[in-house]
Amino acid sequence: MSEHIAYPSNINIVNSAFLIGMPILALTSLVYYSINFGIGWFEPVIFIGFYLASGLSITAGYHRLFSHRTHKAAWPLKLFYALFGAAAFQNSAIKWCSDHRRHHLKTDKEEDPYSVTRGFFWAHIGWVMVDEGEEIVEHVEDLQADRILAWQDRNIFLIGFLTGILLPALVGFAWIGGLHGFLGGLVYGGFVRVVVVHHATFLINSAAHTWGTQPYSTENTSRDSPMLSFFTFGEGYHNFHHTFQADYRNGHKWYHWDPSKWLIKSASWFGLTKDLHKIPAKVIESRRMKRTFEKKAKGTESQFQERFVDCMNQLRSGFNELIQRRKEYGIAKQTKKSQTKNDWKTIKQGHKIRIRESKTRIAQARTDFKMLVLSMNLDATNKAALA
Ligand SMILES: [Zn+2]
Ligand SMILES: [Zn+2]
Repeated sequence: MSEHIAYPSNINIVNSAFLIGMPILALTSLVYYSINFGIGWFEPVIFIGFYLASGLSITAGYHRLFSHRTHKAAWPLKLFYALFGAAAFQNSAIKWCSDHRRHHLKTDKEEDPYSVTRGFFWAHIGWVMVDEGEEIVEHVEDLQADRILAWQDRNIFLIGFLTGILLPALVGFAWIGGLHGFLGGLVYGGFVRVVVVHHATFLINSAAHTWGTQPYSTENTSRDSPMLSFFTFGEGYHNFHHTFQADYRNGHKWYHWDPSKWLIKSASWFGLTKDLHKIPAKVIESRRMKRTFEKKAKGTESQFQERFVDCMNQLRSGFNELIQRRKEYGIAKQTKKSQTKNDWKTIKQGHKIRIRESKTRIAQARTDFKMLVLSMNLDATNKAALA
């Protein structure tokens, strides 16, 4: 930790007791329960069920919907997020989003509530355990005007207790019955699950600002870590997220592990979400190319600039052409009914060929860029050999 930063001495007793006490409670109750009741199907299922409900309420709800407004959601889904977000015991959505919006506005600066420049521990959990003056709630007027979120903010601990502690115990009681069911729900769906969701979320502020790659930007400490995404519902693509925070996806490729994105997308098929915002693929890819070029160039920019600009232009015009040709195909589809079967077949074929041509142009731009990177690597190796 750098020397000008000192930890304040004003410990937040309630938060600290909760964050230290809960893992102790979870562990001791887990040992007690395991000795007396063992483990079967019921325990992992109740754990996973409540882990999904509370974890996704934080990532898809608190984070991507409420903090970043990357899409719109119907009130039943917002209510679900408010109920089960409370079960994650990470404060109300309004306070969570106030901290998070400040984190994005002032990343790594003094005003960033969980800046990793103050150390891994601070970013992970320290910032919750210490009070630094008055609690600031700002940049959330839009959320304060929302009736569901205002109600959740007023009753956050009661809601959290009911949905995060009592409900899993009752579900266990209804399922298995007796003390066995009640305790099983309480321990696995309540205590243990709260601790796991806590630290998975905290890792985004600590680990996703420490380990991983920076394919899109080096303007701040955020990093992409697919491994972290695995148990944080896709939130590990954090460099992408800090660069394109208006996008409802964090893992933008279809094969990126991002269950929050899949939830938001599939909810749209049932009318529960709409206006899902995506950053255009050409913007994402040219940003990545630019970043790769800067990383490789290291002072040789002028030598390779022309080829780089060519690649970028080819990529962008390829994408623009593809969008245009897809649009034209869409318009042509509307005339399908007025065509004979054979005529439509020919028209369709023509559009498909034109679309394929544009895709080939994009692929060519990618290959040219790969060749450029190889030339740059070779140049660097030659220079190193001569030195
Ligand atoms: Zn964010
Ligand atoms: Zn961050």
